[in-house]
Amino acid sequence: MCGIVGYIGNRDAYPVIMKGLQRLEYRGYDSAGIALYDGNELNLCKTKGKVADLKKLCDETTSTKGHVGIGHTRWATHGIPNDVNSHPHYSNSGNLVIIHNGIIENYATIKKELIKRGYSFQSDTDTEVLVNLIEDVMINEDVKLGKAMQIALNQAVGAYAITVFDKRKPNELVVARLGSPLAIGIGENEFFIASDASPFIEFTSNAIYLEDGEMAVIRLGKQIKVRKIQDDSLVDPYIQELQLNLEQIEKNGYEHFMLKEIYEQPSAITDTYRGRMLANEGIIRMAGVDDNIERLANAKRIIVVACGTSWHAGLVSEYIFEDLARIPVEVEYASEFRYRNPVIYENDVVIAISQSGETADTMAAIKLAKEKGAFVFGVCNVVGSSISRESHAGAYTHAGPEIGVASTKAFTTQITVLTLIALKLAKYKGTISDSTFRLHLQELDRIPEKVAKVLETNEHIKIIADKYKDVSNCLYLGRGYNFPVALEGALKLKEISYIHAEGYPAAEMKHGPIALIDEQMPVVVIATNKGHYDKVVSNVQEIKSRKGKIIGIVTEGDEAVRELADYVIEVPDTIESLTPLLTTIPLQLLSYHIAVMLGKNVDQPRNLAKSVTVE
Ligand code: GLU
Repeated sequence: MCGIVGYIGNRDAYPVIMKGLQRLEYRGYDSAGIALYDGNELNLCKTKGKVADLKKLCDETTSTKGHVGIGHTRWATHGIPNDVNSHPHYSNSGNLVIIHNGIIENYATIKKELIKRGYSFQSDTDTEVLVNLIEDVMINEDVKLGKAMQIALNQAVGAYAITVFDKRKPNELVVARLGSPLAIGIGENEFFIASDASPFIEFTSNAIYLEDGEMAVIRLGKQIKVRKIQDDSLVDPYIQELQLNLEQIEKNGYEHFMLKEIYEQPSAITDTYRGRMLANEGIIRMAGVDDNIERLANAKRIIVVACGTSWHAGLVSEYIFEDLARIPVEVEYASEFRYRNPVIYENDVVIAISQSGETADTMAAIKLAKEKGAFVFGVCNVVGSSISRESHAGAYTHAGPEIGVASTKAFTTQITVLTLIALKLAKYKGTISDSTFRLHLQELDRIPEKVAKVLETNEHIKIIADKYKDVSNCLYLGRGYNFPVALEGALKLKEISYIHAEGYPAAEMKHGPIALIDEQMPVVVIATNKGHYDKVVSNVQEIKSRKGKIIGIVTEGDEAVRELADYVIEVPDTIESLTPLLTTIPLQLLSYHIAVMLGKNVDQPRNLAKSVTVE
């Protein structure tokens, strides 16, 4: 959520920061701004709108000179998205300037106090309060920026990734994080700051990821000093070698990141199991599972905590874990779980799923589970992310960067990882036979080629999208393993096309949603030949009798649904537990094409952020 970028070195800071902000656009934002120090003046340029609007404004109105600067994309929490509330924010003296991702929860109390002392405020943000608190500490305690920031942050309650620049110290940037990500790229006598490594990947592959509760003084010609905010103790920073490359974060000829990521799924799924699964030998190796096999296999219960699409992947895993490994599973919204005083036992295993590994509610749920003695297993995509570090053990999805806000390949690779874990535990516990185990491995090994086959239905899906793009509502139905896919299909449509959609278990339709069905209502029904096919066919019949429009997601060669449906989209046959990996694909494409046809901003839908780092 929101992005921060900073640069200090010999290059012109403006193009570096501007390009960096563009790379962070996927995180979701509503306004953007930049501050550059040209050796005399600290020039600020900010606006509501997109980074392209900011660039235009800066090019036309502001001096863009300087070798040090900071930039921000804001996702408003305190104060509406407008020019004034956009970051960066000056302190009252004009000496300090700040960018901030997160929320200062006690800003109102601090603001009152500062107003009493004569401070005034231009914006409604919590951020402007923080920069003035830092300034106040600098003046009253007669300390430098680093120390003042530390003192001020110890008074602040909330979450933040911040960067502050003091124009009297032009060789220095000071950064801090608690609950929001912050990476420092280290070049040859130059430094980059960003919410993730994508803004500086072409300049350096060495980076420090600050841990929660740490701050760093970054000074040209000096080693970076990292300290704990709470007690001032020095920390030895770990310099990580990044594996990201530029190609991975560009569109490679696709019109949108979302489409690119949909099409990457055959290779992303392969990358997820590569080196972990030897289908012919009947072996699964996963360090995070192998090293903790007793703890995981003896779990009395698995509690999955996640949000959004990851929660849907968690729901799919409920079927897999219960079906294969015979371990009871509860799937929880992290935001509810963390505030509910849940019953957690020491022999529970909590699986936390998050693409970014930074989701604030999931992170808080993990902390709670750990306090209560549960073993926490993280499933994340972003290597080195907060959740991956906070978990006792985990497995990465290795899907490569996901930039489109609507999650696609993260979902299918999460299901892949969770399937591998369930199979591994089932084998260890002896809850499935050797032949079933091997069959699953062989079938999983064929999923990438089958996903590629589903992708070939793209042109047909476009025709269906064109037919239904103007509807106001849509229903998605599925049973068993494909009930969570129905939820996910509805979410995809909602988030990028803004069409109201609901997912239901097909059999639940009779308990309410069937009242909605008339000749205007398209109903997407997942009706593959496994599971409860005959029951779903009856449900399709019931929709047909009420004149609903039926789009069936069926197994190749299907006849019964084809006869009843207005359109069918075929997916290759596979075993039941793996059908979600195929049935999801047409739903992603359907939403994508509808959104494009409606002229929506597919990669950055309104009001949404990619990684939700505030609760
Ligand atoms: N709370 C700050 C604001 O509303 C920062 C929001 C953000 O993370 O972009 O300006």
